Amino acid sequence: MSMYDEQDDMADEMSEGSMDFFIPADDEHVAREKRKAAELRKSQWWKNELAKGKCHYCGGRFKPSELTMDHILPIIRGGFTRKSNVVTCCKACNSKKKYLLPVEMNAGIGVAGRESNESTDNSKKDN
Ligand SMILES: [Zn+2]
Repeated sequence: MSMYDEQDDMADEMSEGSMDFFIPADDEHVAREKRKAAELRKSQWWKNELAKGKCHYCGGRFKPSELTMDHILPIIRGGFTRKSNVVTCCKACNSKKKYLLPVEMNAGIGVAGRESNESTDNSKKDN
């Protein structure tokens, strides 16, 4: 899409240090969406989601304190922090996903605490 090849050189620097077997979103995107996630976590909307006490993935019932915020399309894959892309996830499902996607450990994220990302693409039928 880019009409100017020169811009590609700049993009190269931003992806330095990333894993090479998938294409991550650029650092700016990740940082921005992480910040939005931190904000969203404080919102009344999110509190309501937690209060429902339901894990989006396994459908189990949990206390709000046992649920974490999860991005259906992970931020590092270009996902955005918006209500349609954010779901409640229990800790069990959360850690299952970590095993499935170990690259997250090396992606230099996690600044925002216990926020998780996941690779599940088969659960976005909701909307
Ligand atoms: Zn679950």
